[in-house]
Formats: sequence, C-alpha cells, structure tokens
Amino acid sequence: MTAEVIVDIAHSEVDKIFEYRSIEGVREGSRVKVPFGNTAVDGYVMRLKEGSDFDPAKLKSIAKVVDHALTKECLALAKRISERYRCPMALTLRLFLPAEMRRGAAHELYKNVVTFVQDTDIPARAKAQRAAYDYLKAHSPSDYTALCKQFGTAAVNALIGRGAAARTKERVNRSPYTQMEGDAPARTLTPAQEAAVQSIRGAAQTVQLLHGVTGSGKTEIYLTLIAAALKEGKSAVFLVPEISLTPQMLSQLRARFGPQAAILHSGLSAGEKFDEWQRLRRGEAKIAIGARSAVFAPVENVGVIILDEEHDGSYASETNPRYNTAEIAELRARYNGCKLVLGSATPSVETYLKAREGEYNLIELPERINKRPLPEIVVADMRREVRRGNASAFSAALREELEACLAGGRQAIIFLNRRGFAQSVVCRECGEVVKCAQCDVSLTYHSEENCLKCHYCGATYRMLTACPACGSVHLSYTGTGTQRVVGELKKLFPSARILRMDVDTTAGKEGHYKILKRFADHEADILVGTQMVAKGHDFPGVTLVGILDADMSLHFSDYRSGERTFQLITQVAGRSGRAGEQGKVVLQTYDPENYILRFAVRYDYKGFFEHEIALRKATAFPPFARIVRVMVTAAEDKKALETLKEVWFSLKELYDAHADEFLFFNKMHSPVRRIQSRFRYQVLMRLKGDALLPDIYERALAHRSRDALVYVEEDPGNLS
Ligand code: ADP
Ligand code: ZN
Ligand code: ZN
Repeated sequence: MTAEVIVDIAHSEVDKIFEYRSIEGVREGSRVKVPFGNTAVDGYVMRLKEGSDFDPAKLKSIAKVVDHALTKECLALAKRISERYRCPMALTLRLFLPAEMRRGAAHELYKNVVTFVQDTDIPARAKAQRAAYDYLKAHSPSDYTALCKQFGTAAVNALIGRGAAARTKERVNRSPYTQMEGDAPARTLTPAQEAAVQSIRGAAQTVQLLHGVTGSGKTEIYLTLIAAALKEGKSAVFLVPEISLTPQMLSQLRARFGPQAAILHSGLSAGEKFDEWQRLRRGEAKIAIGARSAVFAPVENVGVIILDEEHDGSYASETNPRYNTAEIAELRARYNGCKLVLGSATPSVETYLKAREGEYNLIELPERINKRPLPEIVVADMRREVRRGNASAFSAALREELEACLAGGRQAIIFLNRRGFAQSVVCRECGEVVKCAQCDVSLTYHSEENCLKCHYCGATYRMLTACPACGSVHLSYTGTGTQRVVGELKKLFPSARILRMDVDTTAGKEGHYKILKRFADHEADILVGTQMVAKGHDFPGVTLVGILDADMSLHFSDYRSGERTFQLITQVAGRSGRAGEQGKVVLQTYDPENYILRFAVRYDYKGFFEHEIALRKATAFPPFARIVRVMVTAAEDKKALETLKEVWFSLKELYDAHADEFLFFNKMHSPVRRIQSRFRYQVLMRLKGDALLPDIYERALAHRSRDALVYVEEDPGNLS
C-alpha cells in the first residue's frame, strides 16, 4: 500500500502530498514519522491506496506509527478548511490536535497499582506485610506508591513476591473538575422550553437560531438536546465564549453528565488537556465542551452542535487560518447530518436576517423563566450630573440604588467600557502622549503597580519622571478606569467588599475563574469590571447593575459599533435579577436620546434589528456587502511597504477586471501602524458579494514571504 502523507512543516513549498510506502498498522488519519530530506518529521496519513504515481522502488517507507489522532471527519473537514482559507494543509491539520500533544510536550500518565490476587498465608512475625495484606484485601486495587508509603516498600514487594498481590500499570485520567461530579437531575422543561426543543428537533433546516432573552432558560434547552443525542448513542459539541466557562457552568455540566463530558479550555494544564482530548478521541467522553477551538474536537457521530452567545467576538479566530467558528460548526453539522443550534439574547444582525428569511429555523423565547420580569433600566443623564457639579463616575441615581442594594445584603455589578476609561500619560507642556516602543499605541498608567503598560503587547515600563520629548516634569497621570472606579466606590461605601475584574486582575491560568467564584460565593458585594462581566454569568445574588459609560462604544468608527453597544447593554443588564428578586439597571450616558440606547432600554431587539438592517442596506455594509481586509506586516517598514505594493498591484488587476463588484478599494496604513515591532499596512475592500473571495485569497497570499506576513480577514471584528 502507498500512503499519501502531509508532512508537518508549515511552509508553502511543502504544502502538497508526499507518497510513502505504508507499514503495518498505518490507517487513514494516522500520525506517523517519515524520513524527509536528512531528517525525520511528523506526518499525517491522508489516504491509503494501491500502487503509486511514482516509481515504487524509489518510495521511502514510513518509519513509525505515532498514533491515530485524526478521524475521517477531520480529514474531510481539513480539506474544506484548507481550500476555503487557502491555508497550507499542515497548518490546517494543527487545528485538530492539542498543541502540547503535537510538540510531544504532553504524554499519557501512568501509575503503578497493586491488586489483590489470592489468599496467602503471611507469617505472623511479618507484621508490616500482614497489615498491608489485610489492607489490600479490603482496598484492591490500591496505588503502589501510597501503599509503600503506608506499609514500607519491602513489605509491599514481599506480598507481590509471594503471589498474594500483583503490580500493574494503569493509565491515569487527569480530568479537571471531577470533584464537581454529582447527581443533578434534568429539570422539567417549561412549555416554552419544550416547544423549543420540539421545533429544533423537527426542523428541516440544519441551522437553528434560538433567540431567547437573558434568563429564558436556553442552557436547559441545550442540556436537553445534548442528553437526547447521548441517548441515541451519539456525541455532542458545546461551544461557549472562553469567559463563560465559569466554575458554575462547569459544575453544572459535570453534575449533569459526569465523565461523559470533556472540558477543553485554556486554563487547563497540558496533561489535563491531553487527557480530556484523548478521552474524546477514544469515545470514552461524548460531549466536547469548550471555547472556539473545541469546534475541532475529535468526537465522531455528532448528534448536536451548540454554539452559545452566537454574537460573541471570540468566535472569530485571530491567528491563521482566520476561520469563523459558526461556519466550521455548520460544516460539521452537515457532515454528520445533525443540527447546529446558535443561541443568543442578541443575535448578530447577519444571523437574525438569515433566520427571518427562513434559511435558519428561528425559535424565540421572549420571556424569562417563570415569567420573571426583565430588570427595569433607568437612564441617568450624565450631562445633568455634570451641570449639578457631580464630577464623579457615579450618578446620584446609581449611588442611591447601590446604597439600597448593599443595605439589603444583595450584590451589584458595575460595568465600564475598557476603551472609554483607559488613561494615558500626557505631557502638560508639549502635549506628548507616551507610546509603547514596539507598538503605535499609547501606554496606560496602572496606579496599583505604579507602572505603564502596553495593552497590545503586554510590555511593562517604569514610571516616567519627565517627558521623553521636552523633558518637562509636568506629566498628567490618571489610573485605569477600573482602578479609578474602585477607588471612588471605596470612598462612597467604605464597608463594601469590592472585587475588580479586568485584563490586569485576570492574568494567569485561572485568573477570572477565581474572581467569578469568589463573587458567586458572595465573598464580595460589588464586582467592578470591563467586558468580561457582561458575558452569560448567572449570579442569583445580583439585583443591581450599573453601566457607567453606555455610549462610549458608539463613538468608534466601526459599522458594528451600534450593534455592539446594543448587545453589551442587553447582556450586562441581563445579569440583574435572575433569581426571583426584581432586578434593576442604571444606565449612565451623555447621549440619552441615542436610538440604540432607547431600543436597549425597552429590550426591543426587533426594533433595533429593523433599524439596523435598514441602515446596513442603505449604506451597503454587511450583510449586504462583504468587508475584506488584506493585512501586510513586517519587521522592516520597507519590506512591509514593498509587499503591500505587490499585493496591491495583484489585487488591482482583479479590481480592473471586475470594478462593478467593488464598493470600495484602497490601500493604506493600518489604524495602528505598528504592533509588537511589526509595521502594518492594509488593502481594504468592500465587495458586493463573495464571488471574488477565492481570487482575493489566491492573489494576496501569493506574496507571503519569510520576512512579510500576509493574511486575509473577512468582515473583521477589529479594524485596528
Ligand atoms: P439563559 O441561558 O437563557 O440566560 P438560563 O438557562 O441561565 O438562561 O436560565 C435562567 C435561570 O432559570 C437559571 O437560574 C436556571 O437555573 C433557571 N431555569 C432554567 N430552566 C428552568 C426550568 N425548566 N425550571 C426551573 N428553573 C429553570
Ligand atoms: Zn513634553
Ligand atoms: Zn506594545
């Protein structure tokens, strides 16, 4: 047999099939070691066939089988993804394997266990042996190391020597959160939930949009669908934004599905990730739960795919290939003949349009569970506060509500937009704004650590005492938004326990889990945070949400800023009053007449949608057009500019031939001109449709080189 192999080298010159003579044990999907040039490299067997296109006598042989990491579905999917995003096959296949495993940095863990074999006479004087014997008889199998510690290595080995016990190797499962396993029966569905489940299961369409207000019980619907898939002997994929993988969420899943669920997220150790992945690959676990990359989980015979918080920006990949998670999930759903359920309280307008036009099945849940009212949103006009001489971040209305909330022993969430509040260092004499040495962005002052940080590359700088431009010592510093807000809160409510959650406090492996856990356990009264606190958390104790700067994201020149603001307000407001007690929201703004805010305050998604979709149509923006950005970055400005010109020239040919397909076409500096010491340029296009996409990828990526990176983004969420 001949094996068609992709070698694991991410270079366009080796982006093709190499043929090798197959050896015993090789399957389609096997990971193998093959000779390549003068070295041995990893390879993936894409296909096995009789005969060869080359002289069989000259074929080299596969050296060794590593494992059978890739499923049939994965091979099929990888081909589609590689074509769709013009991504080398080797790079595409890497999506399907945990990085630690591919690099050989994670392995299976074994331990020695001792099993009781048979009744044996132990001489009475061998006291330790006798004790070990009695213990083991009652506790077989036991961990070898633990036994030796308790009874002495000599005694344990003697028992084995007598044939009373046997020592074997056993694989250890490093599964996270197993202590949370319990027994949580499924809830009885409400009639609305039941109808949703029926509609999803009976629908003709593959893609389902579950549009349910916050607290409408979408999670219970997901769990019901997953349980149904398991019952049919199938598996399931459950995708959530990384930040939503909270301890509560995980314990709920562990309690409901126990070891059937495998959890894949960035907070796990390499060993845990490896073992969870292996459990899925072996079919021991049937539910893959995780953020974006879990869409590549190695489950077979998938019965349902769930993608919660469909509108969330984290579903767009930020490294190559820049895939769209929902698109991959849909490919998988079609491959398996199962349903893909997109869930959200605030679907993206692209998705909602498809649902309204019948391409997706639309299920709506307009009410919270048990008809609990949605929290009332009170608007505080900050212009009036300023006129009254209130210079603090808190309106009188929010202060009063906070007081009442704390007095009642309830919890509050204070939300602020990161961008709106980030503070930089400005020279008061010459106006110089201090920037990062590697990125074209201003540094942010962190008062707690007394240092300056770049929020793009993470670099930390010591405090400046003088302006780098003019030498003046008159520099103005103010802390980051969250620090400042916490400072004000402490003064207003000295006895309140306050937690801060932002990019600084959540650094480290489990940063945000710890904070969310402490808040859930009511170890704090107020949680102050940025975008992170807006996501689907369910804190029953929270009855008040304060939104400090609702309109900040409205001022960004991005066609999605209105939609983002609506989503953010709805999501963060939805954290209030989820468990019975009526919730309240105070929304502070300098622009109370803004139409986006007015729709948000009434929870009028449809009103918002109609307005937004009409605007997009009139201005020819997505989903009525496609925005494509070709990025060129290089360490040398000259190289970046040269490459940009090549890319531009090549795309210009396309433009000249199809000018009627283009609504906009130009080349320019990227808004942030340098990130991590790389210069950035772009060709920005707005197209009427997708017809030219393959051509654009082809032409743009042809100019990649060792010194210059070129990549394509479709409808990018971030245009910096
Ligand atoms: P969503 O995901 O739509 O925001 P959740 O699934 O978190 O909503 O549900 C909101 C609340 O309602 C949760 O506290 C959940 O435990 C509760 N809940 C959901 N379904 C039921 C049900 N069928 N019976 C009783 N309580 C439910
Ligand atoms: Zn200066
Ligand atoms: Zn930087």
